[in-house]
Amino acid sequence: MLEIAITIDIDADVFDQSLQADSYQSQQPEWKGAEQGIPPLSALLKMYSGSDQQPCIATWFVRADDQVGYYHTDNAYLFERFYTYWTALANEGHEIAWHPHLYKLENGNWIQETDPQALLIQMDTSLKAVRSKGWKVTSSRIGEAYFSDAISQVLPSLGILCDSSALPGRERKDNTRNIDWLITPFTPYYPSLADYRVPGTPHVPLLEIPFSMVEVAADYDLVPLKRYVDLSFWHRALKKGLEQAIQNNTVLNCIVHPSAIVPTLESKPHGLLSYSLNEVKRNIDFIVETAAKNEIPYGFRTISQLYKRISYEQR
Ligand SMILES: [Zn+2]
Repeated sequence: MLEIAITIDIDADVFDQSLQADSYQSQQPEWKGAEQGIPPLSALLKMYSGSDQQPCIATWFVRADDQVGYYHTDNAYLFERFYTYWTALANEGHEIAWHPHLYKLENGNWIQETDPQALLIQMDTSLKAVRSKGWKVTSSRIGEAYFSDAISQVLPSLGILCDSSALPGRERKDNTRNIDWLITPFTPYYPSLADYRVPGTPHVPLLEIPFSMVEVAADYDLVPLKRYVDLSFWHRALKKGLEQAIQNNTVLNCIVHPSAIVPTLESKPHGLLSYSLNEVKRNIDFIVETAAKNEIPYGFRTISQLYKRISYEQR
């Protein structure tokens, strides 16, 4: 069985400076991509179902954190602004989940918060803001794939059962990123209390479901690189790695950003991001066709559904 988790991060229009236009300097977040990208994306998903006859439902990770609160006076602003989207999706069985970018403002710049106590306060207040609007979120994805032992311990204490932030094999520490998932396995695991990157005993009561990592060949790459499966990547860049991943895994955890399917948000032609809903369709078509061709039964799962299945089996 191939369980396909389509996860959708509701980020600001410029969600990754390194992937997108470098001419965009403003730090005031804009949400045109979410506003214009969510309806066509959810309409596209309706066209699919699994070989198990279950509908194609996804997990929508919505930003709620201090940076959102700074610009919009409410950390859970996006839960309110796109309320009609979320209620319609939730009614169809989609999962609405939490996507905090845990920054702090220092000398006019937003930088990664790493202090355990400050992280706890920001996570607690943000989740309270979300839940005060009636959303019972139990899954998280930490922005920029930042993680720490403090976070893995805080999340379950705040009622988060399952997280999907890990980028197995990735490590990057510089001015803009602080990521260490170098030794993380590709399959879901309960993080060790002593090291969030690996399973171990004792472990924290939190299931980590890593991103699927595949060989991706961007137009500007000399050699393919292991990257996460972003359904808005050009199909030509993703095809080969995706085919291998489908044949060798039972969980395919992929991502897409609504802003990366809105053509007007493309500032210049990009060698990796397509800004095309049609390319997302080509990639999902390819996933289901490859599974069918290899006689692998497949179905679409939310992060919570994966959590329930895996935690039940491990009891
Ligand atoms: Zn994000």
